[in-house]
Amino acid sequence: MDPTYSDEAEQYRAKIQTFLTEHLPTEWSGLRGLPYDQREAFVDNWRALLSDNNLIAPAWPTEYGGGGLSAIERVILHEEFARAGVPTGGPNDGFGIGMIGPTLMVLGTEEQKKTFLPRILSGQDRWCQGYSEPNSGSDLASLSTRAIADGDEWIINGQKIWTSEGHTANWIFALCRTDPTAPKHRGISFILCPMDQPGIEVRPIINIVGSHDFNEVFFTDARAPIANVISDVNDGWRVTNQLLAYERGDDATTVSLRMQGVFDRLVDIARSTGKIDDPIVRQDLAWCHSKVQVLRFLGMRSLTQILGDQVLGPESSINKLLWSELFQRMTEIGLHLYGSAGMAPSGEAPLSPVFTETKGDPRSSKAMADHFLGARPASIYSGSNEIQRNIVGERVLGLPKEPRADEGPWNETRRAN
Ligand SMILES: Cc1cc2nc3c(=O)[nH]c(=O)nc-3n(C[C@H](O)[C@H](O)[C@H](O)COP(=O)(O)OP(=O)(O)OC[C@H]3O[C@@H](n4cnc5c(N)ncnc54)[C@H](O)[C@@H]3O)c2cc1C
Repeated sequence: MDPTYSDEAEQYRAKIQTFLTEHLPTEWSGLRGLPYDQREAFVDNWRALLSDNNLIAPAWPTEYGGGGLSAIERVILHEEFARAGVPTGGPNDGFGIGMIGPTLMVLGTEEQKKTFLPRILSGQDRWCQGYSEPNSGSDLASLSTRAIADGDEWIINGQKIWTSEGHTANWIFALCRTDPTAPKHRGISFILCPMDQPGIEVRPIINIVGSHDFNEVFFTDARAPIANVISDVNDGWRVTNQLLAYERGDDATTVSLRMQGVFDRLVDIARSTGKIDDPIVRQDLAWCHSKVQVLRFLGMRSLTQILGDQVLGPESSINKLLWSELFQRMTEIGLHLYGSAGMAPSGEAPLSPVFTETKGDPRSSKAMADHFLGARPASIYSGSNEIQRNIVGERVLGLPKEPRADEGPWNETRRAN
């Protein structure tokens, strides 16, 4: 079976290819082809170009300034951008355009939509996600950052952690406890908080590769306008889950492209290191190829669901489990291919180990070593793989629910224990 796209879809592909040819330099070889010191400026200019051409928020409806593209057009856009090695936006767009924007469209007031959506599109507001805390990750509803109403403002105190791109953001959507006496899922509010104020301190966390992607964010009497709550006060858990559906679902149709990119790289390295005829290497590559194809077909199934106007449900957890574990396994195989050079990696490191397809020198052993390290957190972020397995077990397979440790009233003492 080799499914193909419709003629109409292929016409859209031709349109995007023309756009890329018109706007990229003739010698273009992907973002990684640019010297490091030119990459940031390229991404800024590229983002502005996408914004001017209505391509920065392709999934948003046109009434909110988006591209209004169909699901299949979005997949084609991603495919062509991935092939050309150009980003689909700036570093904070995953949070602004991918998460908080769509959440506001469904649950925000007209005033909130009018205020925030245009500023997300223009890049004036750059968002990050304030969910996890030092003692609240998988059991997110145990969070303890407090918000107390004071006149026309919220006063917020507490700490968030692992806040990706918090250092390039100027707004954070923060989950805050607003009623400590209520059952823990019912005393949380979803608050939009400006970061450019003395009450917010962002401290970098350097990851295992040595790069700065995430942060700790401290709130010390930080202030947010009282109207900046999405949905009702204490209804933040519903908003949290609405946003998580966008975070986990969005990737499902396109992640096989990224994994195909890693696989192509493995084949490339096997050839250049003379190991392509080794039977064990061939077996490993065949295994990877079959998993990438499974991901591709799962992605197509997701696409069919989206085209049928269904929201991706718990099935997106299957996709997340498969791609994250495949990514980790492929990078292990990649390091093996380098043999002893994999233990003393050399060459140009990629800028970011996670979104590797556009960055760094793909053939250097250093790039593969960073890939290997960068693949480790894939089974943790967006909800750990153990949690995804619980979701698949309970909500896809219908197995009996585990006894829940996270029920009952919120209680700081119990949480800290
Ligand atoms: C690269 C990266 C970027 C991130 N970016 C952000 C961000 O921008 N914003 C944000 O808010 N957070 C972010 N996170 C945090 C991420 O969401 C959490 O790390 C994740 O939810 C797990 O929480 P935890 O680290 O507290 O682990 P814990 O919840 O303490 O879990 C520890 C271990 O116990 C297991 N476990 C826990 N509960 C169960 C259970 N019920 N059943 C079975 N096993 C269980 C887990 O799977 C894990 O293996 C990021 C994390 C990473 C690694």
